[in-house]
Amino acid sequence: MKKRVGVFVCECGTNIAATVDTEKVAEYAKTLPGVVYATNYKYMCSDPGQELIRNAIQEQQLEQVVVASCSPRMHENTFRKATAAGGLNAYMMEMVNIREQNSWVTHDRGQATQKAQALVGMAVSKALRNKPLQVSTVPITKKAMIIGGGIAGMQAALDIAEGGHQVIVVEREASIGGKMTQLDKTFPTMDCAA
Ligand code: SF4
Repeated sequence: MKKRVGVFVCECGTNIAATVDTEKVAEYAKTLPGVVYATNYKYMCSDPGQELIRNAIQEQQLEQVVVASCSPRMHENTFRKATAAGGLNAYMMEMVNIREQNSWVTHDRGQATQKAQALVGMAVSKALRNKPLQVSTVPITKKAMIIGGGIAGMQAALDIAEGGHQVIVVEREASIGGKMTQLDKTFPTMDCAA
């Protein structure tokens, strides 16, 4: 459990910093067990921001990285790569969202800062338990089975087939069409449903 954790709190310009006291969050992070380094920075996803992470991993001999910034959907990959470039397993990086789920949903600076601190605290706890992961590749059969021949199933089957893959549609009823076949006409064109 004794790992050297580094915490990087992003300001996202004023996107986060206008509502969350990022300096206070970084200071709080330094008090958490396992944390040996914590800082805030204007744009963590920028090249200098990524360099900050890489350098800190090496200079502070970090074993885990926690980034508090935007949604992982935006930059999880960026920070995994920066973590790997610093010499760690890419999965030794934990990310928390203090933007979409925090600074963007309140104007209350006190509460937003408190929430960011709580999120960072949880991420640090998890980081202490993280283990390195390896990416593996497994062979797959490029064929799809769709269960249910309703409208959604038929459309999915057509889309996959147009992508050049064989599709098998499984339907429990005697015919395909699902609920649509039980209707007479459909709004707004009043076309015959069948
Ligand atoms: S990492 Fe996310 S929160 Fe930080 S500057 Fe980039 S987009 Fe903004």
